[in-house]
Amino acid sequence: MPGNALRAGPVGPARTSAQAPAKELNGDSAFRVARGFGRRPSTAFERVLGALERHGSRVTGTGRQRAAQCPAHDDRNPSLSITDGNDRVLIRCHAGCDTDDVLAEIGLTRADLFDRDDRQQYRSGDDQWTPAGPAVAVYSYTDERGEVLYQVTRTADKQFRQRRPDPSKRSGWDWSTRDVRMVLYRLPAVLAAPDSACIFLVEGEKDVHALEAAGEIATCSPRGAGKWRPEYAEAFAGRDVLIVADRDALDPKTGRRAGADHAWDAYTSVQPVARSAWIVQAAEGKDAADHLAAGLGVTEFVWWEL
Ligand SMILES: [Zn+2]
Repeated sequence: MPGNALRAGPVGPARTSAQAPAKELNGDSAFRVARGFGRRPSTAFERVLGALERHGSRVTGTGRQRAAQCPAHDDRNPSLSITDGNDRVLIRCHAGCDTDDVLAEIGLTRADLFDRDDRQQYRSGDDQWTPAGPAVAVYSYTDERGEVLYQVTRTADKQFRQRRPDPSKRSGWDWSTRDVRMVLYRLPAVLAAPDSACIFLVEGEKDVHALEAAGEIATCSPRGAGKWRPEYAEAFAGRDVLIVADRDALDPKTGRRAGADHAWDAYTSVQPVARSAWIVQAAEGKDAADHLAAGLGVTEFVWWEL
């Protein structure tokens, strides 16, 4: 995929020799090898393709549209189409096999056609009510041990509200997060990440989930762009960090780009303590979630350009 390779040098101030990273990133192959990407395929699309391959079906095509030999009939030419939908896989045998029969042959059920991580974003135990309308997503922020400190709720029209557990309230929640300790999203996973893992620092929870579905370790700071706090940097001490900057339009009022400013705030905070820190951006779309939804991989982010 020409044009999508990392194509420019790193951004940010040069390091002193004392701070030099143990490994140099000198292009795509080093980037790919050194970071141990793609450990744990977990999207429904990857699950279905993996099951077909294990069954012995030949899979052809690239990107979000594939074809395979149908496991439910004697298929010499690939007549099963597999399409990566937004949060689910669509499969269809053009010879007319029943989808349940196709799935049974490869040891899957209809539930396997859905991205599990997406379905877990909203758990039935979480109260859907918010002052801004019903939540379509509820994100729990926890301390190091997994204890919920607060939740961020998102409505369909992208209104975000925060709440903290409060047993004295009938709903169990207090919608003020004043004096609550603010932490990174997925803090326990970041702290438990293997030393070799690259940690993705993105702008929003949706991006974190998209990267997790791709098998990566990812985090974001709460409350979106412009709300970075220096204490968040601690969790990145000694780690390799890839910051994915959102590609925002210029704000006519401020003359600034919120996503770029946010990435730079995070970079200047994390870089002095991290083993390495780099800023990249989506090759397609605005953010990491768009990039992955376009069928691009985690090694196909491009270097940040203003
Ligand atoms: Zn068939």
